[in-house]
Amino acid sequence: MSNNRKYLIAGNWKMNKTSADAEELIKAILLELGDKNGVSVVVCPPYTSLETGAKVLAESSNVQLGAQNMHAKASGAYTGEISAAMLRQLYVNFVILGHSERREYFSESDEEINEKVLAALESNLKPILCVGEKLEERESGDTLKVVETQLLGGLVNVPEDKADQVVIAYEPVWAIGTGKTATPEMAQEVHAAIRVLLRDRFGKATGDKIRILYGGSMKPENADGLLAKEDIDGGLIGGASLDAKSFVKLVESAAKASA
Ligand code: PEP
Repeated sequence: MSNNRKYLIAGNWKMNKTSADAEELIKAILLELGDKNGVSVVVCPPYTSLETGAKVLAESSNVQLGAQNMHAKASGAYTGEISAAMLRQLYVNFVILGHSERREYFSESDEEINEKVLAALESNLKPILCVGEKLEERESGDTLKVVETQLLGGLVNVPEDKADQVVIAYEPVWAIGTGKTATPEMAQEVHAAIRVLLRDRFGKATGDKIRILYGGSMKPENADGLLAKEDIDGGLIGGASLDAKSFVKLVESAAKASA
């Protein structure tokens, strides 16, 4: 990685852990992490554990809190939904948007995801915008086209002066939760293409500041190779984020890559 982008390791817990479990896992992560810094570390538990997370993390500047989704509207008759302001009140700093599971199981479109990205930025939440191709799209040679559509679709009307608050996560859908990881070369090829699109969209200086994470079965055994690549600025971690030791090993890999 170059350009002084600070590595970011974010754990996406998905629909796992009660708030009692979350307290235990966050405490274990803090213990394991000690006073290591130099890497941005984010945990994204389910909504029901955010308040617990905020309390446990209140005295730690090392680990920040993220949510896994939000609604674009500020308030109103949207049963079951959560707004950006509600997240901010719980000291949430990041929000994952457009995860492939949201796109697939909840039919989220690029337009809806874009509304959420804009609403998050309005509320000073940093969006982690997820993009990535399905297996059949990779096999038919459409990877870069799919990623470009999702990326630019998600970034419509994002002002240049807020663009460096956005984090991009490239997550090939075929690698999520499957144990199959993109090779460092495959991932870097897409990250480099995303970097070019970001520079075109926001100018070189801003495009170079935006962090691009890799996600898809990243674990301690494969992280070093991925994190060594120029445009891979961290990871969005599913399965391996549910175990404090594995998660902190990934933070250590990122610290090593930035040294
Ligand atoms: C994810 O869902 O964002 C993810 C990367 O999951 P996993 O690490 O389990 O593949």
